[in-house]
Amino acid sequence: MVKETAYYDILGVKPRATPDEIKKAYRKLALKFHPDKNPDDPNTFKQISMAYEVLSDAKKREVYDRGGEEAIKGGGSSGGGFHSPMDIFDMFFHSGGNRGRGRQKHKDVIHPVSVTLEELYKGSTRKLALQKKVICPKCDGQGGKDVEKCGPCRGTGTKVIIQQLGIGIVQQMQTMCSDCQGEGEKISPKNRCKNCQGHKTIKERKILEVHIDPGMKDGQQVCFTGEGDQEPGLEPGDVIIVLEEQRHAVFKRKGHDLIMTMEIELVEALCGFHKQIETLDKRILSVKSFPGEVIPHGTIKCILNEGMPHYRNIIEKGRLIIQFHVNFPPDNFQPADKLEKLEKLLPARPDVIEPDDCEICTLSVMDPEEEQRRHRGEAYDSDDETRGQRVQCAQH
Ligand SMILES: [Zn+2]
Ligand SMILES: [Zn+2]
Repeated sequence: MVKETAYYDILGVKPRATPDEIKKAYRKLALKFHPDKNPDDPNTFKQISMAYEVLSDAKKREVYDRGGEEAIKGGGSSGGGFHSPMDIFDMFFHSGGNRGRGRQKHKDVIHPVSVTLEELYKGSTRKLALQKKVICPKCDGQGGKDVEKCGPCRGTGTKVIIQQLGIGIVQQMQTMCSDCQGEGEKISPKNRCKNCQGHKTIKERKILEVHIDPGMKDGQQVCFTGEGDQEPGLEPGDVIIVLEEQRHAVFKRKGHDLIMTMEIELVEALCGFHKQIETLDKRILSVKSFPGEVIPHGTIKCILNEGMPHYRNIIEKGRLIIQFHVNFPPDNFQPADKLEKLEKLLPARPDVIEPDDCEICTLSVMDPEEEQRRHRGEAYDSDDETRGQRVQCAQH
């Protein structure tokens, strides 16, 4: 049993969640609460990152499970350092293609794009306007004329500070050179490039065309190599588009399958139904029950090849799964004499023989959602003792 569930709760997973489930939860939430999208709420993003950093690392997760947040933050030797939320985000979405290249590469730009299920079904092209840093064409990324090496740091942009920690113990620390702000060079104000104010790069608006292929999935990445920010001396970064599937009013996607609920009336369940379904590409499918077929509430049927197309093999399609929901008429929907007629039409009800000592009970109504919530809460505890206590409390 874990000591605290706060980190799990932040990610919306159970304490028994697999590393894969934790990854999935982080991906969803990090995109949703990215500061670019939520400038007013940087805190949620931070919390998600912290929770993910701990729970995605087997060692840190163990420390947290055993001692909670206190243990992980005050961990000292075992805890180690923590990354900034943006670093975690970048590491997560970065494909790691950096290694092996000659020059260092600029950080990639991750950009979530929200797409409808219709777009993922039919495919579409989205134009995306992005601001990117490009090398200033006027000064060729020099920042100006007569660029001089910074004296105090000898052009390295860093300084080494030696700190005395105790007798005979010194610590060397590298810090950014304050004279040149880490640039390693200086330009006198009159020689500074007017176009970029000596920053070497300027901001440019760039339109990217994102091709969404039929069958692409939530979380799928589309990479624009070299379309990210530029900086002198660095290979330009990539722009990575992460698709985010929007909720659909009718269909829920599960792999290649689409799932929908079809509401039918009791009369349709008993005497036959005829319904139409509008597909994601606006075709109309007509579906009927077989003659004499009764559709019990909760029946599941499917239409083959009406699910999502397979990515890069759109001839193959999943299934359209239909879950039937039978709407029953309200209480006292008809005068009693009609119910008698109805009863005569239906199969006979079974006889009940009641013993003398039977107990007459009243049936109370229960809310299925409330029940589910309660069970979810209980699932957190594997400890039987606590579970027993909770059931007792709930009976008040
Ligand atoms: Zn310039
Ligand atoms: Zn310097």
